[in-house]
Amino acid sequence: MVKICCIGAGYVGGPTMAVIALKCPSIEVAVVDISITRINAWNSDQLPIYEPGLEDVVKQCRGKNLFFSTDVEKHVSEADIIFVSVNTPTKTRGLGAGKAADLTYWESAARMIADVSKSNKIVVEKSTVPVKTAEAIEKILTHNSKGINFQILSNPEFLAEGTAIQDLLKPDRVLIGGRETPDGQKAIQALKDVYAHWVPEDRILATNLWSAELSKLAANAFLAQRISSVNAMSALCEATGADVTQVSHAVGKDSRIGPKFLNASVGFGGSCFQKDILNLVYICECNGLPEVANYWKQVIKVNDYQKNRFVNRVVSSMFNTVSGKKIAVLGFAFKKDTGDTRETPAIDVCKGLLGDKARLSIYDPQVNEFKTLDYQRIYDNMRKPAFVFDGRNIVNAEKLREIGFIVYSIGKPLDPWLEDMPAVA
Ligand code: NAD
Repeated sequence: MVKICCIGAGYVGGPTMAVIALKCPSIEVAVVDISITRINAWNSDQLPIYEPGLEDVVKQCRGKNLFFSTDVEKHVSEADIIFVSVNTPTKTRGLGAGKAADLTYWESAARMIADVSKSNKIVVEKSTVPVKTAEAIEKILTHNSKGINFQILSNPEFLAEGTAIQDLLKPDRVLIGGRETPDGQKAIQALKDVYAHWVPEDRILATNLWSAELSKLAANAFLAQRISSVNAMSALCEATGADVTQVSHAVGKDSRIGPKFLNASVGFGGSCFQKDILNLVYICECNGLPEVANYWKQVIKVNDYQKNRFVNRVVSSMFNTVSGKKIAVLGFAFKKDTGDTRETPAIDVCKGLLGDKARLSIYDPQVNEFKTLDYQRIYDNMRKPAFVFDGRNIVNAEKLREIGFIVYSIGKPLDPWLEDMPAVA
């Protein structure tokens, strides 16, 4: 029986391993973490993260071939394949602070693997890491290896929070990077064999290590770039009377462009996009490519601009001050169907409003119910003029206007009220 151990029981490690366990009954999967509370939650009825369908998958496999444990060393030493799915946040101090990935957790995991291993292992980078990380990991492992053979693979995860289980069950592609040596190719094949239990062969891509590592950063940068592109357009739509929904629909109909990721919003969030682009920017700078670095930096700048623009719009519409005004914030997570609030744009919006001394009440139901609220009742209970600022273009603005609301929808033609109160950038 092949044994898999995954270090890091987070948003990636938990769901990914649960799906591997579900699809590969002949493989024993142990997910380990240094966080006792997280592991206890994985072993309880109240899982530590919310993902549609996750609970079902975990319940089917837990205790059979899926185990959650804090006994990191035991499971690592017994495993044939070790996934490392620890967090890789942006460095907050020292060299590269504010941009480079902090690989502290990765390094300590690699040192522990080297310490406790007694048999050959395949070590898989599941976390998103800077290109060339595998080289550093290889050095740590081989310099401390006591003659054990370690093969490093890069197998970045492309799941999106909110649809993680569906993404894992039916991935667009599985990417596996490895050394171009016979041992490297053998390791790639071993991991391919795991995914081949449920992923069609033509969707499993094998590349060299550096291509796999870089592809993950590139994919996130491209996705975020589309959001910043449509958000930049939304500002121009508001200035000209064009409607961003109509523009993105027309643009997305071009089969070379496609319709996905073209919704204007208050900005992208989540734990990955900003961190991975900053990381990409840093790598470009380190490789003497300032023009390339600046190109990608702009994606983040437009995102910050969009969040500021939203706050300014709220404040300027309400007579240039929200001091003492009560504002209900509907939804706080960075998108629907997730409980994750890491780097959510709502944080910056709320900070901006609090900076102007607003009184905030925040509500997040995890799933999306804001389309069907009783807006008439809400309107009746509000001080007038009553405003709705829609950062996701979710509400039916026309209906709300009929009730009497002044409505701001991102990138849409402005109400006369809003036109009279221009937001200063
Ligand atoms: P997370 O913070 O939810 O989980 C990481 C876990 O690793 C934590 O529970 C932490 O306690 C544990 N950990 C840290 N060091 C450890 C150690 N030495 N031994 C054992 N456990 C340790 O992070 P996440 O969202 O799952 O992300 C993990 C990686 O996957 C990151 O590199 C991220 O960029 C990448 N990624 C995330 C997503 C996503 O949607 N969240 C998608 C694709 C890739």
